[in-house]
Amino acid sequence: AGPTIAAGEILVEIMATDRGMGFLEPQALIGPYPSGAPAIFIDQVARLGGGAGIIGCVGRDDFGTINLERLRRDGVDVSAVAVSDRYPTGSAFVRYRPDGGRDFVYNIAESAAGRISLTEEARRLADGAGHLHVMGSALSISGLKEIIAYAARAVRARGGSTSFDPNVRKELIDGADGAQFSRLVDDADLLLPSGDELLAAAGVDDEGQAVKALIARGVGEIVLKRGAAGSTRFGADGSRIDCAGFLVEEVDPTGAGDCFGATYLTCRRKGMEPAKALFYANAAGARNVTRRGPMEGIAGFDVLDAFIAGTARAA
Ligand code: ADP
Repeated sequence: AGPTIAAGEILVEIMATDRGMGFLEPQALIGPYPSGAPAIFIDQVARLGGGAGIIGCVGRDDFGTINLERLRRDGVDVSAVAVSDRYPTGSAFVRYRPDGGRDFVYNIAESAAGRISLTEEARRLADGAGHLHVMGSALSISGLKEIIAYAARAVRARGGSTSFDPNVRKELIDGADGAQFSRLVDDADLLLPSGDELLAAAGVDDEGQAVKALIARGVGEIVLKRGAAGSTRFGADGSRIDCAGFLVEEVDPTGAGDCFGATYLTCRRKGMEPAKALFYANAAGARNVTRRGPMEGIAGFDVLDAFIAGTARAA
């Protein structure tokens, strides 16, 4: 029992309206949209009716307000979000290349998001949580590493569970971070990698071997994200479920992985079977890429059911 919590960057995103190269020319931008992987994730949990809370830090400015109002409206506990008088809310500018690639300009480390720390409110939220979701990217912010170490201990002590999205290259983090990374993988009840991250987390270059190695290390279940191709769930018992992607027009891919992961987790926490949870997660990821703005496509079960009824899937 207890809510699902996440910790980390609460941002706004400002995006180029046309696909092209880089930010070198003046161009039309649209936003700000509420963003930040932990915010996207936890908002999706709340929209599905799961208890949800977030630990973060925003500036005392309109960008912070946009995000906090969205999270609050959707039912996320924001009592552990600090508001900084000194640092502005973090931001990300994103531009999509014609080939589908993305270029980002981030202001995170020197923003409020980079000043996150283990406050009394953060401890209180972690002490009451039933599930902790961690993003690998969190391991690059020192205050956040401390929060995650504390929250992981607190959740485990209460018999709760954890999920981990290993969205960081193991080689890019230093020794101490590498140890925390490995512990987060080993302790994960649910691991949510995309293609290369699965191999990097296991340290091998074959998908099947990676799955075997990670399950042997104690991972409870692995759900692999495959973009437009859908996803695959690997159980600790050696089972495998493939779920084909929904056929949609991709307008903005940012946030799909977080919507997907949050939906799978929340469905499982509600007692749903893996196959059904995977199906809903695929729908949530696919629907999200059809809307501009990383949190604008987040949906509850009613909207997902309508989306599923009206959308074809790849063979
Ligand atoms: P990440 O953002 O973490 O790299 P993905 O891009 O794989 O994750 O997206 C997560 C999930 O969202 C996919 O497994 C799939 O179910 C869904 N999804 C993402 N992009 C598309 C797309 N273009 N068409 C259909 N489904 C998609």
